[in-house]
Amino acid sequence: MNPIINDQLTAYGWNDGWQQTLAEMEQPLRQYSPARVVAQFSHSYNLMTADGLHSAAVTGKFEFLAAKRGDYPAVGDWVLTEPLPGEKRSVIHAVLPRRSAMVRKVAGSVIEDQIVGANLDYLFIVNALNQDFNLRKIERYMIAAWESGASPVVLLTKADLCPDPEAFAALVEDAAPGVPVHCVSAWTGSGKEALGAYLKPGATIGITGSSGVGKSTLLNWLAGHDLQLTQGIREDDARGRHTTTHRELFLLAGGALVMDTPGMRELQLWDAQEGWQLAFSDIEQLASGCRFRDCKHDGEAGCAVLEALSSGELDPKRFANYRKTEKELAHLARKERSAAKGNSKGKRPRSAGRADRRPNRLLEYMDDE
Ligand code: GDP
Ligand code: ZN
Repeated sequence: MNPIINDQLTAYGWNDGWQQTLAEMEQPLRQYSPARVVAQFSHSYNLMTADGLHSAAVTGKFEFLAAKRGDYPAVGDWVLTEPLPGEKRSVIHAVLPRRSAMVRKVAGSVIEDQIVGANLDYLFIVNALNQDFNLRKIERYMIAAWESGASPVVLLTKADLCPDPEAFAALVEDAAPGVPVHCVSAWTGSGKEALGAYLKPGATIGITGSSGVGKSTLLNWLAGHDLQLTQGIREDDARGRHTTTHRELFLLAGGALVMDTPGMRELQLWDAQEGWQLAFSDIEQLASGCRFRDCKHDGEAGCAVLEALSSGELDPKRFANYRKTEKELAHLARKERSAAKGNSKGKRPRSAGRADRRPNRLLEYMDDE
C-alpha cells in the first residue's frame, strides 16, 4: 500500500518537509496515508484525509504504546491512517513528529502535558486596544509561543477604539524587539493587509488571548463569513457518533489554516512558569542534591547541578536553556511586582497574588534580582 496524497492534503499544509518526515518513518508506518487532525473529542478525532473529512480513533496498539497524554494526536497533528473500507472513517496508527506544540500542563493525579495545538507556524496573540490592554499578559503569551516553537505575532484589536494605536504598538515592540505587532480593527477593516504576510497557503496559525479581546470577530473577519455559524459545534449526535462538520482547524479562502481550540483560548498564563519548572524537572531534581538549599549553581561548593554538568550527565545546552528561560521569567516577575506596587489601590494584576504565594526556587532567584 502506498500513502495517498492529493491536493486536499496540500491545502491542509502537507508539503515536501512532511513528505520527508513520512519517508523517515519506520515500516509499516510509512505506508499509511497522512491526514491532519482538524478536531478533537474525548475519544475520537475528525481528520482531513485525501478522501475528505473522516472521523477516526487510534488503534489498540497505539493506545497500548502511548505512555502519556501528549503522545495522543492533537488538533494540527499529521497522523498516519488507514481508511475503513466504504466508510468515512479511519484508524490512526501514528502521529508524525511535531514541528511545534502548544502545551498546557494539566494537574490530575499526575501532572501531564496536554497539547492544545500542534504544528503551528504562527501564534496570533490577541489583545484589545481599550482598557483591557495588558502588556504583561502579552509578554507571557510570547513566552508560551517561544516555548511552543511557533512564531509569536501580536495583534492589537479594536484599533477603532483607541486614539493612538501606534503608541501601544511601540510599547509592545519595546518589550519584545523583533516580534511583529499589528494594529487591526474588524470594524473599520484597518490593518488587514499586514496580516497577508502570515496568511499564506498551507501556513497554520493559532489564535490566543483573553475572552472578549475579539478573537471570534477576528476569525470571522479573516474568513469573510461567520465560521461558528457554518461549522456546527455539536460534539455528538443522538447516537453518540460525531458530526463530521466539527472543526477547530479552518481552511480560509486565501489558503491559510486557522486553529481555534478551546484549550488554546484558555491557555493559562502562569502555566508558562509552572511549565518551566516541570519542563526542567530533571534539573530541579538534581538541585535537590546541592549542599545548600538556596544554591544558585554558580560555583558553590557541593553543587550537584555543576557536578552533573562536568560528568556529562546534564547536557550543557539544556542547562543554558534553563538559564535563559529562568532569566526571561525573572524579568517578567520583576515587572509584575513593580506593577503591583505602583498600583496598590487600583486593580492588582490577577496573577500577582498567586505568584507571591508560590514557595519555589524560582522565586528565590527572582527576589535576589
Ligand atoms: P473573543 O471572546 O476574544 O472571541 O471576543 P469577540 O470576538 O466575541 O469580541 C468581543 C467583543 O468585542 C464583541 O462585542 C465584539 O463585537 C467586539 N469587537 C470585536 N472586534 C472589534 C473591533 O475591531 N472594534 C470594536 N470596537 N469592537 C470589536
Ligand atoms: Zn547547585
